[in-house]
Amino acid sequence: MPLIDTHCHLDFPDFDEDRNQLLQNCRELGIRQLIIPGVCQKDWQRVINMADNESCLFPALGIHPCFVEEHGESSLELLKSFLFNQPRVLAVGETGLDFFIKDYNESRQRFFFEQQVETAKVAARPLILHVRKAHDQVSSTLKKTGFNHRGIVHCYSGSYQQASRYLDLGFKLGIGGVITYPRSTRLHKIVRDLPLDSFVLETDAPDIPPFGKEKQRNSPESLTRIFDSFTEFRKESKSKVMDTLLDNTISLFPELKE
Ligand SMILES: [Zn+2]
Repeated sequence: MPLIDTHCHLDFPDFDEDRNQLLQNCRELGIRQLIIPGVCQKDWQRVINMADNESCLFPALGIHPCFVEEHGESSLELLKSFLFNQPRVLAVGETGLDFFIKDYNESRQRFFFEQQVETAKVAARPLILHVRKAHDQVSSTLKKTGFNHRGIVHCYSGSYQQASRYLDLGFKLGIGGVITYPRSTRLHKIVRDLPLDSFVLETDAPDIPPFGKEKQRNSPESLTRIFDSFTEFRKESKSKVMDTLLDNTISLFPELKE
């Protein structure tokens, strides 16, 4: 049962105690690869080192919109040099806009996001996007800049119309633990109604634990539960869903083909 976790923060200290055991459990569950997005400059080298030591881990590097205050122009230069010198870095991210957090600095977030879109363009990498309350702004930036290296809108939370706009730009929607909650009716409808090639799966561990495990640390092992929940909203057979999700992920990141 080959699954790929397209968004997992396995580098976070939350996993220092049992990281190797978790990776072993993942292998047994058929979770064959994981993408680890770095969210801050100080974490990038850690993510690279971890992925260098485990062939199933693939790094992405970016400046998360919630952490733009901790970064400057030199961070953007450093990001570029990582991308040009580290071929295993699959994507730029996570990056994006988050207008949900308190007292956010819109112009600073926009600056770092637009710069990272440019960086992804010159480095020819897809984007891993974190977007809250800013889907229209993000999709119009992508359109305006003519960005055509595609990517993932991680933990997708927007409307059906906003989803269609991302799909038109070649992006896929990252579906994670939110799908397991009975109250996520808007997301359930999106998963039911859009074509199967619109989606990839993710856990966002240690965040977003599935329904019934609220307040616990999430783990990449929950990807199998997310997959099961996803299939409940699709008419296709489980094996067809699994094959297509794998193809969708590999279409964005050919490096994951085995
Ligand atoms: Zn994340």
